Amino acid sequence: MAQEWNIRSRGHVCSVCAQPFADKTPCVSVLRETENAYERLDCHPACWQGLARDWEPFSVWEGVYEAPAPAAAKHEPLKKETAESLLRRLITLEDPAMQNAMYVLAVMLERGKQLVERAAKPHESGGILRVYEHKKSGDTFVVLDPRLRLDRLGEVQQQVVALLSGTHAEICSTF
Ligand SMILES: [Zn+2]
Repeated sequence: MAQEWNIRSRGHVCSVCAQPFADKTPCVSVLRETENAYERLDCHPACWQGLARDWEPFSVWEGVYEAPAPAAAKHEPLKKETAESLLRRLITLEDPAMQNAMYVLAVMLERGKQLVERAAKPHESGGILRVYEHKKSGDTFVVLDPRLRLDRLGEVQQQVVALLSGTHAEICSTF
């Protein structure tokens, strides 16, 4: 399964009428499964309702559009590995060995209220595909929940702690 398409950014204009979203207004986000990718639509609620279509979405949810804060980038401190930056990197690595770590990171971020779960669907592997949305940026992460057994959880948590502390820096240094 290719992973690189598992991160999708929220659009700043409506996918239907192409008008920009106003800050803090409702926004309907839609993931559509295509042959080997997810297509993401972000629409005004009325535009989505009025859209004629002959396909079923993978998931649909309503959120609130927030305009990006332009000043934030200037004061960014030295790059430090966070659960979020690590998750983004692991998703693009496409390494099946990192699947459990990605899921544990997503759960950590959800508990930390940075991600919100928007949808869940059974996956052919026996796991569950979960769609998470970043609360601030609106980015979507599709992560496979491998339905870890409890006795494996400690091992995976250690793997995540090691990754976060840079023990496995060589894995990530290719990026
Ligand atoms: Zn619109």
